[in-house]
Amino acid sequence: MNPPQEEPPAAGAGPAGGTGDGPARFARIWCRAVYPETATSMTRDEFEAHLVGLTRQLAEALHARPFSPVPGRAVGEALVAAHCTTADALPRILGIIDAYLPLYCAGDGELAAEEARVRCGRLQHAIASGFAASLQQRTRSEQEALSRATLSAQNSIANALHESETRFRAVFQDAALGIGIADMSGNILDTNLAMTQMLGIADHHVRASNIGDWTHPDDSADVWRMQDELRRGERDHYQVEKPYHRTDGTSLWTNLTVSLLRDAEARPQYMLAMVEDITERRLLNLRLRYQATHDALTELPNRALFFERLEQAVSPSSDVTRVGLCYLDLDGFKAVNDSLGHAVGDQLLIAVGERLRDCATEPGQLIARIGGDEFVALFVDPPSRRAVTALAQRALDALATPVEVGGRELMVRASIGVVEGPVTELNANEILRSADITMYRAKADGGNRFALADPDSDARAISRHHLTHHLPAALKGCEFFIEYQPLIRMEDGSLEGAEALVRWSHPRHGVLGPDRFIPLAEHTGLIVPLGRWVLREAVRQACEWQVQGIGGSRPLRLNVNLSPRQLHHPDLVDETVSVLEEFGLPPGSLCLEVTESAMVRADDHELKPLRQLADLGVGIALDDFGTGYSNLASLRRLPVSTLKLDRSFSEGLQHHPADPVDMKIVEGIVSLAHTLELSVTVEGVETGNQAERLRELGCDSAQGWYYARPGPPERLPEAV
Ligand code: C2E
Ligand code: CA
Ligand code: CA
Repeated sequence: MNPPQEEPPAAGAGPAGGTGDGPARFARIWCRAVYPETATSMTRDEFEAHLVGLTRQLAEALHARPFSPVPGRAVGEALVAAHCTTADALPRILGIIDAYLPLYCAGDGELAAEEARVRCGRLQHAIASGFAASLQQRTRSEQEALSRATLSAQNSIANALHESETRFRAVFQDAALGIGIADMSGNILDTNLAMTQMLGIADHHVRASNIGDWTHPDDSADVWRMQDELRRGERDHYQVEKPYHRTDGTSLWTNLTVSLLRDAEARPQYMLAMVEDITERRLLNLRLRYQATHDALTELPNRALFFERLEQAVSPSSDVTRVGLCYLDLDGFKAVNDSLGHAVGDQLLIAVGERLRDCATEPGQLIARIGGDEFVALFVDPPSRRAVTALAQRALDALATPVEVGGRELMVRASIGVVEGPVTELNANEILRSADITMYRAKADGGNRFALADPDSDARAISRHHLTHHLPAALKGCEFFIEYQPLIRMEDGSLEGAEALVRWSHPRHGVLGPDRFIPLAEHTGLIVPLGRWVLREAVRQACEWQVQGIGGSRPLRLNVNLSPRQLHHPDLVDETVSVLEEFGLPPGSLCLEVTESAMVRADDHELKPLRQLADLGVGIALDDFGTGYSNLASLRRLPVSTLKLDRSFSEGLQHHPADPVDMKIVEGIVSLAHTLELSVTVEGVETGNQAERLRELGCDSAQGWYYARPGPPERLPEAV
């Protein structure tokens, strides 16, 4: 079919928008192609207006999130209702949609081209099935009318009424549907022209045959059962899709309706069959179904088909007991795409698809491509778990030989997550997610391997994966906030300052403590922007307190935690200084806390930024002191002004009498610190007894629940 000539919209020029005039222009093209195929009483303009409405429904469906092809059915039905029912109508309807819908209605790049194409294919499929169902419904009504006419004609034959007989002949011979009449033994008595033409058989051949001769290997199991029931008079009609052999060796697919005709005493007398040729429609449907369920690049089943199979397997009505799934992701595919171009990337994916296909040829196995460089192997009812891991290993082996693309040998490696288990335990989504997460584990272990899912590491990975995934948006969406915990001077119980402790107000999980996400943020590098935000917000808050005069004559000191990544960030000094300058906070009012382990590991070069900050007057505290590498001698070389004694030291001093060994240790550390001119802060003071002992031992300041728990900034003044 030649598509009508129309200027395609220029990229980004506007008409492609789902809300612009794209739909109207699409409808015009559509109308031009389809109007000649209708038997509608509408004028051309009216018909075009009708199509504008349908186009809007399609454009909306194309953009909907989540996507559903269902609105396509209604469009198919509406087109039948508008009498677009000639033999050529459906191919034309779909041809125009295929060629122009994504172009005019996909919006300004908000829908990726590939995504638009896939969605468009699924919409076409839905339109075709709505169209077919609606047409079938209509044909069925026509058949019923015909059936009534036949019956009255047959009765008339018995009464030898010539006039009725003529009327019946006319209906019978001229009908577009194939019609055949058989006696109750199945011998065919009469067929019309349409029937013999459809079957490509001479009239007398058909007439010499019996219904039982018309079997076909693709007959549904139901058809012959229903035929027997009808012959025994237990049912009055049935309707099925049934194939027939044609003399030229091809198959004729029909929509077959068989009715039982009874005599005046209600005894079964004849069987009347009416067939409608649906071969073309069925082929079209098969093609559309194929397109909707296969990946255009590799021709492997796509995500939709894979998911359909997986859901079938785990649905309670299936008799499958176990499933295995291998989730495969290529290692380093992005690098290939970025350095050698998409054409090479595509060739590589095709080659990988072919190799994987050859790995899974046993019954119950299916390979699908479900994303850019992601493939899955589904194994329904595997004989053992070993059989599934063996499949994963086969896939890795298949990729071991380099792939030749454009005269170049490319190494392909992959990571595979394997899940195997009874179908009762997980639903399809959970299985896929578990395999995906396990795949990440294989990747984290170095790639080019498979890992087997296990529920414990899954659960950990799921929450880790989830939190890591949501961190960037959380930072943008201001989901973090800071609580402040007072630092108290031991000599007089006055407020010395506060430590800023970050929290995440997670929309689903509630408030999360830093232990849940700081390690992830550290791992992903997001700690840098997060830490920057904490510093800025804490410095701003400190200035506010200073303006309010909280802390009296001595300005409050603000402690901010610094993680190792931040410590090594080249802009640490510049950024810290510019934040202090922005708010006008004296450097001496800020203290950065760095853990003992991070600081001791750093060499002189790495300590340089901290030294620069210390030279400017910023305090540096050695956090969690005593938990790790307590090399007291090394304290000399560190640019530190304060030791923060870990909570574990104050624990032994909680009760009366205090543990004498702990007393001695703390005393030793305090005196050493003071010799090095470092002040000592103790953490985790929970009781008055502890506070008293620590004061006696010479600690300078303290922090802990005994004084106050971390809280919102407005609670800080209450601490004094
Ligand atoms: P940390 O620096 O050792 O902070 C002290 C932790 O001890 C805080 O836990 C605090 O709530 C808790 N704590 C305070 N007083 C008591 C007490 O009397 N008894 C007990 N049992 N615990 C007490 P939190 O807020 O969960 O912070 C945990 C860690 O997260 C912090 O340990 C710190 O290393 C890290 N962190 C918190 N905020 C930040 C931040 O903004 N940046 C970075 N890099 N790390 C942070
Ligand atoms: Ca700290
Ligand atoms: Ca600490």
